[in-house]
Amino acid sequence: MRSLRNALIGLAIAPVLLLSQTGLAVIIDADTPLAADTRMELVRELAELLAPAGVHADVQDSAPVNWLGTSVAVAYVTLHGVCPVEVARFSMPALGALGWVARIDGVVQPFIHVDAGAAAAHIGPLFVRGQEALARMLLGRALARVIMHELLHWLTQSAEHGEGPLFQPAVSASTLIAAGVGLVESEVWMVRRGLGLL
Ligand SMILES: [Zn+2]
Repeated sequence: MRSLRNALIGLAIAPVLLLSQTGLAVIIDADTPLAADTRMELVRELAELLAPAGVHADVQDSAPVNWLGTSVAVAYVTLHGVCPVEVARFSMPALGALGWVARIDGVVQPFIHVDAGAAAAHIGPLFVRGQEALARMLLGRALARVIMHELLHWLTQSAEHGEGPLFQPAVSASTLIAAGVGLVESEVWMVRRGLGLL
């Protein structure tokens, strides 16, 4: 009964879920394979970020991709410089963007690039020694949030940013890993409009 009640409460606070739902395939290509718990958290976080828009994220590794299920769109993510988070080490603030998308002939392409090494260096100083496992897991969350930021540029076909903490020109390390950070309502609608759900 309790789970049913929780499910009903969930629907009440997320009315968008009552609207049409769709899938977005996110294909991940990493130069070095992600640690299992990093990958697991990346998948979980991306699913959680997109759920309010009624979008199911189907994360797959790049090779071989031969099944897109019911996804209506595909985004391709390349993770560069994958490396472990070095905890308790001061690092220079990440210079340049953690992620980017290419615009060709005025069209933002669904090819997302993430500097995974810079993301790891960005969040490293937030952890102390002994928190290596936590840092490894939360690297996945940080990567998911960088991917979400770039997905929004593609879905809005714009270099403009938004109101929410994840869609700012620069996103702090703590915002990349803090619990409960997600899309704001205007960004939920950007996702739906971008995927043709309106
Ligand atoms: Zn941006």
